[in-house]
Amino acid sequence: MSEDLFLKIIAGEIPSTKVYEDEYVYAFRDINPVAPTHVLIVPRKHIRDVDDLTPEDAELMGRILLAAQKIAAQEGLTNGYRIVVNTGPNAQQSVFHIHFHLIGGRQMSWPPG
Ligand code: AMP
Repeated sequence: MSEDLFLKIIAGEIPSTKVYEDEYVYAFRDINPVAPTHVLIVPRKHIRDVDDLTPEDAELMGRILLAAQKIAAQEGLTNGYRIVVNTGPNAQQSVFHIHFHLIGGRQMSWPPG
């Protein structure tokens, strides 16, 4: 068993509600949603956080955004959505496998808390 929570989810060792998957990416509903749509988009490759990225991950990061676009359409987010990547303690990152929060389905404000 991996110590990485999201690798366990990708492997099916921990249950999740899948909304999308492809060769590079697995996406599932956040267990503690902050909006009507709250999906976590996760690369199958273990990358700890944004600071852990290398140039060889450039294409993979683009694939995540393309997955986000598909999921947003699937979820009917025609009025817009937000994509958030928390990195490090000031951003309150709590799971150390890079993930993109796709949040939508309500009006949001700026700046975030
Ligand atoms: P972050 O704080 O940016 O690291 O985000 C981690 C997210 O993972 C939080 O929004 C949690 O609610 C979510 N989360 C933690 N455990 C699970 C799980 N087992 N299934 C789905 N989402 C989870």
